[in-house]
Amino acid sequence: MATNRTFTMLKPDAVEAGHIGAILEKINAAGFRIVAMQMTELSINDAKAFYAVHSERPFYGELVDYMSSGPIVAAILEKDNAVEDFRTLIGATNPAEAAEGTIRKLYATSIAANAVHGSDSDENAAIEGSFYFSDRAKF
Ligand code: UDP
Ligand code: MG
Repeated sequence: MATNRTFTMLKPDAVEAGHIGAILEKINAAGFRIVAMQMTELSINDAKAFYAVHSERPFYGELVDYMSSGPIVAAILEKDNAVEDFRTLIGATNPAEAAEGTIRKLYATSIAANAVHGSDSDENAAIEGSFYFSDRAKF
C-alpha cells in the first residue's frame, strides 16, 4: 500500500559545503512537510547497516567511508506520493545524468558524493525512517 512518507539524508558533501538551508528550501517549495529531522553523524557500523542492501556492490566500502566522513541531516518527509515525487526532486544517482533543477544536479559533486539520499520504496522509507526515528516515525 502506498504511503505518504519518505526518508532523506543530506549527505556529508552537502552539509560540509553549507547547502543544508538551500536544500531544505527546495524540499519545502516542492510541497514536502518535515515530520522529523536530526543532524547527526554515522559511525562506520551505522553506515554499513544503513547500506547493507549494497554490501555486495563494488562501491560499498567507499560509500560506507564517505557516509561516515562527516555530519549528515536525516529527515522524514510527508507529501502525497512522497517516495516517487522525492526521487524526481533529487534526480538521478549520477549528477551528470540528473535533470536540470534537481537537487543532485544543483548540489552533488560526484556519483558517490551526490548530496542527498531518497528512499526507493514505501517499504524502505519506513525501514530507513525507523533507523533514526524509532519513536517519531509513527507520527
Ligand atoms: N553510489 C556510488 N557509486 C555508484 C552507485 C552508487 O558511490 O556507482 C553511492 C551513491 O552515494 C548512491 C548510493 O551509493 O546515492 C546508493 O546507491 P543507489 O544505487 O541506491 O542510488 P540512489 O538510490 O541513492 O540514487
Ligand atoms: Mg537507493
